[in-house]
Amino acid sequence: VDCIFCKIIAGEIPAKILYRDDDVVAIADVNPQAPDHLLVMPVKHVPNVGELAASNDDATMAKVFTRAAHLGRERSTNGYRLVVNSGADGGQTVDHLHVHVLSGRAMGWPPG
Ligand code: 5GP
Ligand code: ZN
Repeated sequence: VDCIFCKIIAGEIPAKILYRDDDVVAIADVNPQAPDHLLVMPVKHVPNVGELAASNDDATMAKVFTRAAHLGRERSTNGYRLVVNSGADGGQTVDHLHVHVLSGRAMGWPPG
C-alpha cells in the first residue's frame, strides 16, 4: 500500500514519534491546528474507522481510542478534542485511520 503513514511507521519518512507500541503509534501533526496536535493510529494499515469497524477488530479499535484518550489526558488538564475524519465529506485526507488529539486552546463548535 502506498501510504504516507505506513511509511512513517516503517521509518521511511521522518516524523516526531510521541508514542509507540506493537499496535499503536502517535505522531505530531506536521501542520498543527492547535498548540498541541497529535495523530494516533494503528500500526496495521486500515483505511478509515468504518473499515476497522467492519473488520471486527475490536481490540485494535479499543487500543487506538484508549491511547488517544490517555494522550489527551496527559497533554492537557484543561480538556482536549478527539477527531476522526472519515471519507471525503468527513474531511479525511490521509487514508490510514488516525485519531486527531487537539489541545492547548479552547475549541469551537460546530466544526467547519
Ligand atoms: P485528515 O485530514 O486525514 O483527518 O488528517 C490528516 C492529517 O495528517 C493532517 O492534519 C495533516 O496535517 C497530517 N499529515 C499529512 N501528511 C503528514 C506527514 O507527512 N507527517 C505528519 N506528521 N503529518 C501529516
Ligand atoms: Zn497506511
